Amino acid sequence: MRLLDQDFELFLTQAEIESAIAAMARQLAEDYRGTCPLFVGVLNGCFRFAAELFKYYDAPCEVSFVKMASYQGLTSTGIVETLLDVSESVEGRDVVILEDIVDSGHTLQHLVTHFSDKNIRSFKIATLFYKPASYDKEYEIAYKGIDLPSEFVVGYGLDYNEKGRELNNLYILKNT
Ligand code: 5GP
Ligand code: MG
Repeated sequence: MRLLDQDFELFLTQAEIESAIAAMARQLAEDYRGTCPLFVGVLNGCFRFAAELFKYYDAPCEVSFVKMASYQGLTSTGIVETLLDVSESVEGRDVVILEDIVDSGHTLQHLVTHFSDKNIRSFKIATLFYKPASYDKEYEIAYKGIDLPSEFVVGYGLDYNEKGRELNNLYILKNT
């Protein structure tokens, strides 16, 4: 499979990804029983993950989105900027961040800082994909869907220069 100037190969099928999301949704519903958490999806990458998660999270909640910028091409630039913020008050809320992927954890650290000292009741991260060998931050990630090697992936919401987000499966960069 080719996107722009790079070759990718199938790594995970939609069925594999979606069974991990269903399991996470059920765990979240159990953990947040009796509360009304505010889920905050991180755009653009989380759109498929979030949509799939709420097929199985069938309890009271609210859903909002933020947008950050940090990735250019195949490697992280380390630059993180807030492009869109949550419009509702987060004070006293149980907040769950929905991330597509945690790589170095740089974006996540920015999110943690962004939501700190806002008098949030509880704050947890839920990420669909996680690269354990790349993550070098202290912050504990409460919900991790699928562990990945430290390679570049596309599909299921994740892009390569904005291409490939619509792909149903996950593809990994081919080492030629
Ligand atoms: P981090 O700040 O943890 O290094 O990277 C976080 C962001 O970089 C993710 O939210 C995602 O947008 C992007 N990213 C990290 N790894 C990958 C990858 O393998 N593929 C794609 N398409 N984006 C990635
Ligand atoms: Mg992202």
